[in-house]
Amino acid sequence: MTASSPFPAPEAVFDWIDARSQARQDAGLTRQLRPRAAGSDALDLASNDYLGLAKDKRVAGAAAAAALKWGAGSTGSRLVTGSTELHTELELELASFCGMQAALVFSSGFMANLAAVAALSGPESAIVADKLIHASLIDGTRLSKANVAVVAHCDVAAAANALATRKTERALVVTDSVFSVDGDLAPLPQLAEACGKHGAALLVDDAHGFGVIGDEGKGAVHDAGLAGSPNVVMTLTLSKSLGAQGGAILGPRRVIKHMVDTARSFIFDTGLAPGSAAAALTALRVLKEEPELAGKARRNALDLTERLTAAGLHASTPTAAVVSVRAPSPEAAVAWANDCRTAGVVVGCFRPPSVPDQISRLRLTARADLTTADLDHAVDVITRTAPGR
Ligand code: PMP
Repeated sequence: MTASSPFPAPEAVFDWIDARSQARQDAGLTRQLRPRAAGSDALDLASNDYLGLAKDKRVAGAAAAAALKWGAGSTGSRLVTGSTELHTELELELASFCGMQAALVFSSGFMANLAAVAALSGPESAIVADKLIHASLIDGTRLSKANVAVVAHCDVAAAANALATRKTERALVVTDSVFSVDGDLAPLPQLAEACGKHGAALLVDDAHGFGVIGDEGKGAVHDAGLAGSPNVVMTLTLSKSLGAQGGAILGPRRVIKHMVDTARSFIFDTGLAPGSAAAALTALRVLKEEPELAGKARRNALDLTERLTAAGLHASTPTAAVVSVRAPSPEAAVAWANDCRTAGVVVGCFRPPSVPDQISRLRLTARADLTTADLDHAVDVITRTAPGR
C-alpha cells in the first residue's frame, strides 16, 4: 500500500508470499529439492522405478536412439506434429497388453488423469470418488464441474449408495487401484459390480498396479477380471514400472476417440517426447519377455514388510511394490528419513498435510532388482535408525 493507493507498489506485489512461506517454515512444512548425484551408491527405496528399468541399457538406449532420430522434443501437440510411429506403436501395444480396446498416450500420468475425469464427466453428471484418490484425479474432478460425492476409503457400500441416490443419469466412480501412500488395493470387483448395477462408469488409476500386479504384470484392472469391460476405463503412468515418462488412458475405442476430440490436456499439450515413448515401448517389451519382474517386485515388498514387522515396526501389508512404515510423529518421520539417508538408504517420507489421515510414515518401494544384500542393508538401516532406538 502507498499513501496515494490502496494497492501494493510493484515491488510489494508478492509480499503476501513471504508471510505464507514464514508460516510454513514455522510449522516445519517447507519442501526441499534434493538433486540426485549421478553414480551415487546410496540404496534407492524411494523412487517409483518398480522394475528397475529406468537405467536398463535397452530402455535408456532406446530413448537416446529415438531422440537422435526424431528430436529431443515432440515439437508440437499430438494433433499437429507431436505424434510419431512410436506413439502409435506404444498405444497399440499398451492396449493389447492390458486387454483393453484402445489407448491414448499423454505427456504425463497427471495429464492423462485430468483428461480422463474431466472428459468423462461434466456439470450434468455425478462423480463418486474415494477419499484417498491421487491429486491429479482430484484436480480432474474440480475441472469437470461435476457433482462430486467423496466417499470413505474403499467403502463399496458408500459408493453404491452415492450412485443409487444421485440426481443425474450419468455417473463416474473414480479410484486408484493401489493407493500411493499405504499401497493398499481398492476393492475393484465390488466397485465394478456396483457400477454395473447402477449404470455407472468406473475409472481406475492403475499407476501403482500396472507392471507389478498379476502374474505378467498386466495390472490390477486386468487381475480383477475387468479388462475390456464396456464401462471400465483405466489410466496409468509410464514413469513407474516402465521407468520412462508419460501417461496413458486405456478403454473402449469410443472413449479414446472422445478423448482425442475433447480432452484439453491432450489437445493443448505438447505430445510425449519421442525418447520417452521409445523408452516406454522398450520397457513394455522387456516386461513381456521377462514377466517374472512383476513377481520379484511383489516378493521384495513382502520380504521387506515381514522383516520390518518382525523387528517390531508397523509396516503395511503390500499388494504391489509400495510398503509404508508408521512413524510416531511428523518430526520423528522426517528425522528417521534423514537418518536413513545419512546411513546410505534413501526412503520417502509422508507426513501431514500431504496425508489426509494425519499419520506420518516412511514410504518404501521394493524394486524388482533389489538383491538380498540390498534388502539386508535396508532392513538393518531402517530398524537401527527407527524412532526410540
Ligand atoms: N496417479 C498416481 C496414483 C500417481 O502416484 C502419480 C504419480 N505420482 C500419478 C498419477 C501422476 O503420474 P505422472 O507422474 O506420470 O504425472
